[in-house]
Amino acid sequence: GLVDITPLLLSRIRDVADYPEPGVMFKDITPLLADPAAFTALTDALATVAANTGATKVVGLEARGFILGAPVAVRAGLGFIPVRKAGKLPGATLSQAYDLEYGSAEIEVHAEDLSADDRILIVDDVLATGGTAEASIELIRRAGAEVAGLAVLMELGFLGGRARLEPALAGAPLEAL
Ligand code: AMP
Repeated sequence: GLVDITPLLLSRIRDVADYPEPGVMFKDITPLLADPAAFTALTDALATVAANTGATKVVGLEARGFILGAPVAVRAGLGFIPVRKAGKLPGATLSQAYDLEYGSAEIEVHAEDLSADDRILIVDDVLATGGTAEASIELIRRAGAEVAGLAVLMELGFLGGRARLEPALAGAPLEAL
C-alpha cells in the first residue's frame, strides 16, 4: 500500500527484558493483537505477501504463527495448516527434530494436509536464530510440497537467521515486515 505501516506495528510491540530467561529481549505482540488497526494492517500486509508469492496454503508455526497465519489465510482465500510441537496432532504426522541452544525440539504436521501441488507460505511472529523456520521448511519439503516463502512480523537481525536460512529457502523470499 501507499502507507508505511512500520511505525504503527513497532509502536504496538512491547520489549520485555530478561523474559523468559536472563539476557533475552522478548518481543511481545499482544498489544498489537489487541489493537484492531494494527492487527488488520499486519494481516493485510502478510496477505499481500501470500498473494505475491503465489502461495496455495499458509503454514503457521505454533503458537503465535497460528494467531497471525490463520487470518492471513482467510484474507488471502487460502487454507491454513498448523505446524505443531510434537504430540499434539491426532492423525498421521511427519516429524522434524531440530537443535536448540540447550537440547532439542520436534515439530509435526499432518501429512495429508500437504500435497505435491502446494506452494506454502510459512508465517511466524519472530525470526530469531532461524532454527524453527529451518525445520519447518525441511518438514514441508519432506511432505512433498514447495516452499513459496517465509513471512514474519519481525526479524532479529543480530542472530543471523536470514543467512542461516538462505540454503534452505533456495531462492524463496524471506519477508520481514
Ligand atoms: P528461532 O527458532 O530461534 O528462530 O526462534 C523462533 C521462535 O521463537 C518463534 O516461534 C518466536 O515466536 C520465538 N522467539 C524467539 N526469540 C524471541 C524473542 N526475542 N521474542 C519473542 N519470540 C521469540
